[in-house]
Amino acid sequence: MNHYDIIIIGGGITGTAIAHECSKYKLTAALLERGTDIGIGATKGNGGVVHPGYDPTPGSLKAKINVRGANSYPRLAKELNFGIINPGIFVIGFSAADEAVLRHKLEFGIKNGVRDLAMITAEQMHNREPHLATDAKQALYAPTATVVDPFEVAIAFAENAKANGVDILTNQPVTAIEKRTDGSFRISTANQQFACSYIVNAAGNHADAVAKLLGIEEYQMKPRHGDLLVFDKDMKIKPQTVMFPCPGPDTKGIACIPTVHGNTIVGSTATMMDDKEAVDNYAPGIQALIDGVHKILPELDAGKIIRTFAGLRPVVLDNNNDFFIAESQTVKGFIHAAGIQSPGVASAPAIAEQVRDLLDNAGLEMKPKSDYNPYREKQIVFSELDVAKQDALIQQNPAYGQIICRCETVTAGEIIDAIHGLIPAHTLDAVKRRTRAGMGRCQSGFCQYKIIAILSRELGLAVDEICLEDQGSRLLCGPVKGGAK
Ligand SMILES: Cc1cc2nc3c(=O)[nH]c(=O)nc-3n(C[C@H](O)[C@H](O)[C@H](O)COP(=O)(O)OP(=O)(O)OC[C@H]3O[C@@H](n4cnc5c(N)ncnc54)[C@H](O)[C@@H]3O)c2cc1C
Repeated sequence: MNHYDIIIIGGGITGTAIAHECSKYKLTAALLERGTDIGIGATKGNGGVVHPGYDPTPGSLKAKINVRGANSYPRLAKELNFGIINPGIFVIGFSAADEAVLRHKLEFGIKNGVRDLAMITAEQMHNREPHLATDAKQALYAPTATVVDPFEVAIAFAENAKANGVDILTNQPVTAIEKRTDGSFRISTANQQFACSYIVNAAGNHADAVAKLLGIEEYQMKPRHGDLLVFDKDMKIKPQTVMFPCPGPDTKGIACIPTVHGNTIVGSTATMMDDKEAVDNYAPGIQALIDGVHKILPELDAGKIIRTFAGLRPVVLDNNNDFFIAESQTVKGFIHAAGIQSPGVASAPAIAEQVRDLLDNAGLEMKPKSDYNPYREKQIVFSELDVAKQDALIQQNPAYGQIICRCETVTAGEIIDAIHGLIPAHTLDAVKRRTRAGMGRCQSGFCQYKIIAILSRELGLAVDEICLEDQGSRLLCGPVKGGAK
């Protein structure tokens, strides 16, 4: 049985950021993710806004961590080669009451250390966003705010961690944990056993259940559901800025968000739920998003919605909406990185540093590695190359000359690269997250069967064994009209 210094449970943006941080030190670490891929929990169901940190109450853990995490993103994007844009944020007021809230957020932001925040006038907003609602009166402007593709970031963290020696293991649902008399832990997954000295619990909405495997009941959790919409790239009216309305007590409100890839996202609703797997969309939520975004951009064309999706924010109850990052009071060596609700994406790099410090305080010696490589090369993106480079690539490997996803111009070569990548993509959605094949206007209507065929060929599986995402989510169930399999 493998013994590691640290085992991280959960491969969302929190767990992968922690794995990335751990990979900088002379220690052994593994990440265990229950799903077929990393980044398939809350990390694939969010807006991707790197909130700069004017929202959390000064002095809270969230306030410190949010600002530090957000500030790391431009450097990390360069080192790990993931996409980032810098559209800034308007938080828009429509009334005198809203203005008071915005000034309060300005004060929070200044106290939390957010750079360059300012109140701006309706005219200044309209100069940048000419289609903004005419009753928008003023805004808090956060020009440093960025937007990322959250699962691309999680993949980048995990790939870099793996390249620097951390084992990233998928299909490993943790089902039992035992504390041994020598102080070490024994972890059982569905089909393997692992031993370690320290555990980091980054299991998102299931962090309470994972803690309970050791009898730890230090908090209770519930998910906060949010619907989101994706709009086509081809729109007459496209926001340049992330635009939120004045926030409410539990939610930042319904925003329009320009994305790294040129779509617009509208999100999110916020509804407390009991079901931790309920990532369906609900009609009232979709309507609330359309109505909400029309208060900001009245002419945004709802006919251009190409996809709806949803996510569940992991919320620790009775914790002032804060993160819960601490060593267990009852089991030494067990670190919680729990309740990572919004802005967990923005905060992930600093959550990882906080966990590193907790591990250090708990007695794990954190000696930096001299051969740590902070850089990650990303996969070839055919559509980003100029024609000469595309031609040269096709000469070298004709698979790059075969366009599979016409909407996003994704080639067979890129799909094959993803299937055999450092963190391999073995499902349709894993290929989609790495290559964007199926993310365009037709939402894989024209390319799904081709991607299934490539996955089947490359993995040596029958076509009806290829899954959408979770184990058992098979896409094909047999031949139709008596046709060949
Ligand atoms: C609608 C919505 C909008 C949001 N918008 C933003 C935003 O714009 N900006 C922002 O910063 N944040 C945003 N967030 C918050 C952000 O998505 C989360 O804070 C973040 O994704 C949490 O990441 P995580 O890794 O902690 O959890 P997850 O991504 O859920 O990862 C937990 C992982 O643990 C795994 N796991 C669970 N149990 C086990 C087990 N027993 N064994 C092994 N693995 C296990 C799961 O499969 C999962 O992959 C939003 C969230 C939602 C829902």
